[in-house]
Amino acid sequence: MKLRSALSLLAAVAFVSPAQSRDLTDHEQMARDIYEKVISIRTAKGQEQVPIMVEYLVGQLKAAGFADSDIQVTDYDSAGEHTQGLMVTYRAEGEAAKKPIVLLGHMDVVDALAKDWERAPFTLTEEDGYFFGRGTTDNKYGITNLTQTFIRLKKEGWTPNRDLVLVFSGDEETGMISTRAQAEYVAENIDPEFILNSDAGGGVLAPDHSPIFYAVQGAEKTFATFELTITNPGGHSSRPRVDNAIYELADALKKIEAYKFPVRYSDLTLASFKASGAVTPGELGEAMIAFADNPKNKKAIKTLRDNPETVGTTGTTCIATMLRGGHAENALPQSATATVNCRIFPGVGAAATEAKLKEVVGNDEVQFKLMTDVTESPESQLRPDVLAAIQKSLDASGIEAPVIPYMESGGTDGMHYRTKGYDTVAISGAWSRPSDMYAHGLNERLAVDAFYGGLDHWTVILKELAGGE
Ligand SMILES: [Zn+2]
Repeated sequence: MKLRSALSLLAAVAFVSPAQSRDLTDHEQMARDIYEKVISIRTAKGQEQVPIMVEYLVGQLKAAGFADSDIQVTDYDSAGEHTQGLMVTYRAEGEAAKKPIVLLGHMDVVDALAKDWERAPFTLTEEDGYFFGRGTTDNKYGITNLTQTFIRLKKEGWTPNRDLVLVFSGDEETGMISTRAQAEYVAENIDPEFILNSDAGGGVLAPDHSPIFYAVQGAEKTFATFELTITNPGGHSSRPRVDNAIYELADALKKIEAYKFPVRYSDLTLASFKASGAVTPGELGEAMIAFADNPKNKKAIKTLRDNPETVGTTGTTCIATMLRGGHAENALPQSATATVNCRIFPGVGAAATEAKLKEVVGNDEVQFKLMTDVTESPESQLRPDVLAAIQKSLDASGIEAPVIPYMESGGTDGMHYRTKGYDTVAISGAWSRPSDMYAHGLNERLAVDAFYGGLDHWTVILKELAGGE
């Protein structure tokens, strides 16, 4: 189908009267029921409700015919809180033709306070053409979509020609304790050919609901936070010393501010700029295309680096985010500390970044302390077989739009698998407008049509990648 007809199809879908309730097929009703139930379970930190969600999902999967032996529930202590992980294997019949595919999602959510929301955050509310509720996109949509796909395929009697394994984590938004343990287990016991993550990517719509592109998250920058501290003997503020912790720290920070990390790019980021440039108006779009053609183009680099949306895709960034120092208004400061947060381009590394910052600061008195448990993750390939499967799903929905890889500032569960050498890309069956993205924020939502429109997504993709009957 040509873009124009896809457009009019989407436009027609988008203007269905909100009040008009649609007739759901049995399958759509089943998916909606799962969505409603998982959103009603407050799986936020401090609530200890992930095990309730696991129990519910296990019940649904067992009822659909998954054997006890193919369902694994694991327990974790995430900063003193009990959480769980869930793994479900869809077994290949007989000898598997290929190595398994692992499918990721996370069951926990960022908390939401009812008093701040317009509607109860842990109740699925259908209103004005949207589903509202915490997790409607991040990531209970992904969990619901993968789960309903497994149930549907099982009920159809389909058998894959390779093992498909759901791996759902329980604390992605906070400690990632379950994620790390699951990634370890997957590497040792499953060793998949590649991994698909339901927690990012998907279709991007223009303000008028026409499809612009389908995004595939293929890389994440490395997150690392440093504290820079200067200590000093201090003294009475009426008798200033020539050295002063606050002034020295300020000097160090001004040097970091002035320093620009070298321009970095990869096949992925250039392809991403090229494709986004084609659909971005004005000077910014021109700069994206110019940079994709020649990443040494100074004018393009300046434009991209002056824009907060694009600067991060041109290299590593390190930025001061917090500051503290001194202890009394009439005392010389005995210490001053600044927090510097870095988003490191894949392949550069936290150690090299720290070394660079020390060189830039050029003052041995400044002590550096790495505050984060750093996970370095390389870029993943957008494999031809995965690309073909995505394309098939778009074709099946009658949508014509380019498939564009992108790098994000991090972080999803995916990085813990990339760091172990597994190609991991994040994709989603949902199409939405950037203006409708409310993940982690208030009034999180997903268009009702996007929900039902995406229900075939994983079915088409898994059948394409895992053949079978
Ligand atoms: Zn998420």
